[in-house]
Amino acid sequence: MEPFIHPQELAFDIDGVVADTMATFLRLARERYGLSHLSKEDLVSFDLQSCLKLDPEIINDLICTTLDDANTLELKPLDGAAHVLSHLARRGPLRFVTARIWPESIVQWLQNLLPRVPQGFIEVSATGSPDAKLAILRQFGVRYFVEDRLETCELLANEGLHPIVFDQPWNRKGNGCPFPRVKSWHEIQRWVLPLEDDMR
Ligand SMILES: [Mg+2]
Repeated sequence: MEPFIHPQELAFDIDGVVADTMATFLRLARERYGLSHLSKEDLVSFDLQSCLKLDPEIINDLICTTLDDANTLELKPLDGAAHVLSHLARRGPLRFVTARIWPESIVQWLQNLLPRVPQGFIEVSATGSPDAKLAILRQFGVRYFVEDRLETCELLANEGLHPIVFDQPWNRKGNGCPFPRVKSWHEIQRWVLPLEDDMR
């Protein structure tokens, strides 16, 4: 039985949790460099330099292009994200904390993804650095944070917060990850909206 988490105590990372950002990275790797053999399963570390045998300049170009405004607005959401977030917004504002530097395009993307959620209920903090997420989460009064970067989860846990790992190929390394792990938005729904209808 999963613990029930009050929606007001919960916040979300965006890239790799709400947005399928690495799908865009892989598409651009294909289109710009003909790297059609790469798949998400090749991304076994958040440090792309360590898991992809590519020129660092190519990786930097792909990351920058993935995060630019045009490609941000074209991001695909992860399955079920819009459904669960729309339901959660009935209980109060949605809170997102991203390490992106510029929030404008990802805020626009979230508003497009969640057209029925009032814009004032989509709160986004762009910290510019993963380590700066802690202070923002404390400011929000948030105890639970859904995140796909293990190092950030560790930092938050060391400071008394409760990270929830959103399962991705790049956060499966190591053994005995001590944090709860969700594999889908369906599982998140069971933690935060246990009484809602199942998603289909
Ligand atoms: Mg992320």
